[in-house]
Amino acid sequence: MSPNMLPARPRLAAHVLVRRHLVGEEERIILHDVRSGQLLQLGAREWVLLSAADGTRDVEGIVIAAAREGAHARAAAAHAFLAQLHAAGLLEAEAAGEDAARSEPAAGARPARAPEERGGRERPLEVLPDFGLHCDGRGSCCRIYASILFDPEEAARARALRPDVLSGGARHERAFTPERGTWPCAASVVAMRDGRCAYLEGEGRCSLHAIGGPEAKPLGCRTFPTSFVDDGESVRVSVATECACVLASAGRPGGAPLLDPRLRVRGDLDERIDVAALPDRAPISPGATASRAELVAWSRRLAAAAPPPDVAAGLFALAAAVEAEGLTGGAIARFERPDPLEPAALEPWLAALHGRAARRAREDAGWRSERDLARRAAQWIAAATLALAEPDLLAALLAAPAPAPDRERFYLRAALHGHRLIGALPLSLALRDRAARLVVARALPVVVAGAGDDDPACAEPIALVEAMLRGHGLEAYAAEAAGAR
Ligand code: SF4
Repeated sequence: MSPNMLPARPRLAAHVLVRRHLVGEEERIILHDVRSGQLLQLGAREWVLLSAADGTRDVEGIVIAAAREGAHARAAAAHAFLAQLHAAGLLEAEAAGEDAARSEPAAGARPARAPEERGGRERPLEVLPDFGLHCDGRGSCCRIYASILFDPEEAARARALRPDVLSGGARHERAFTPERGTWPCAASVVAMRDGRCAYLEGEGRCSLHAIGGPEAKPLGCRTFPTSFVDDGESVRVSVATECACVLASAGRPGGAPLLDPRLRVRGDLDERIDVAALPDRAPISPGATASRAELVAWSRRLAAAAPPPDVAAGLFALAAAVEAEGLTGGAIARFERPDPLEPAALEPWLAALHGRAARRAREDAGWRSERDLARRAAQWIAAATLALAEPDLLAALLAAPAPAPDRERFYLRAALHGHRLIGALPLSLALRDRAARLVVARALPVVVAGAGDDDPACAEPIALVEAMLRGHGLEAYAAEAAGAR
């Protein structure tokens, strides 16, 4: 079959994410191709037609199935529509779709990974010390993410508790879209209204929680913002610094524990919780790697070090030291007593982040609601990074004391405990990336104030930057910045 020929029984490719957004009362279906980054907007009727393309039907069958759902189209028009999507690389044949869906499990609702080694179930849980979460109940974390996942049981429970939400009680697909590709797939994503989870009430309260208690929420919402990483010695239980409540809880006594204190070892955890695994070796600088044991030992020493007044400067100095001498105590000493951060060192990082955020803000303006927090946050990050392209302004910001040094120290402490600096990006580049994020967060309040916005999510700029970078893919800027150095 020619690669350009429409498959006999097409289906939406697993690398395409379909998300339903309501802007006011207008429904918008957004197709996001995660491979190419392209976005496509469909109407509700086109989505009904496309969702009937599940790999089991030919075009005639798709037209008949869509007509049963009230979306009528002529076969020729349906063929032309599907051919257009296929030419854009958004469709695939049945077998390819099934393979891809199997090989790319759902983020956030992933099946539990088996403990990688014998005895893994006995691995102790090591919880971030001296932290309790004070949730302000204003729902900032229910308004910033692109996808909120429900497994089939969770979705059925939500529809039963709130059948009125988008009339989801009658039909699953009115309130949810597939997590990736088309139905059937393991997880569903709830529709968003002006960028907010459809189950979020006006005051920022989760209506599922209000009616059915905490167990009525999907697992990802119940465990948020807790993260789990098995490093071969323990399971590090830390916190994602992506919510204003997390940063505001730093240093405050009391609060809710990250984990039920009765849970002691990995085998005590709910099997559905996604426990990431630290790889056997990880890159520490371009061309150099370290073993998992070396990384764990070094990160413990760094966590015990005295953080400098300017954490961003410390991270940049540490990055250079890791590249020069590896994971040594000398590198940690450079972190504790860094040279001032030079504007020129930050420029490629800020420029790359600006490029990503500005593109994102332009795209969002085409379809997201003006009230959508993610849209506004992309605009703020784009504006802050643009302002910092002015050398004098950046120099003045770096010369001034950090406005929230306690928050920055906590941010680093949580990242180290959760091994968040270890991943595909070499450690030295991850350190510079985090420094750049902190500098952008320092500049953000001026931009937000200029926009006249008093959204509670802005109270902790570090959290806003973190949520946008991870939750909306802006973090890919770091690889680009590293290449431009
Ligand atoms: S289900 Fe509830 S807790 Fe989860 S995002 Fe929606 S409103 Fe928030």
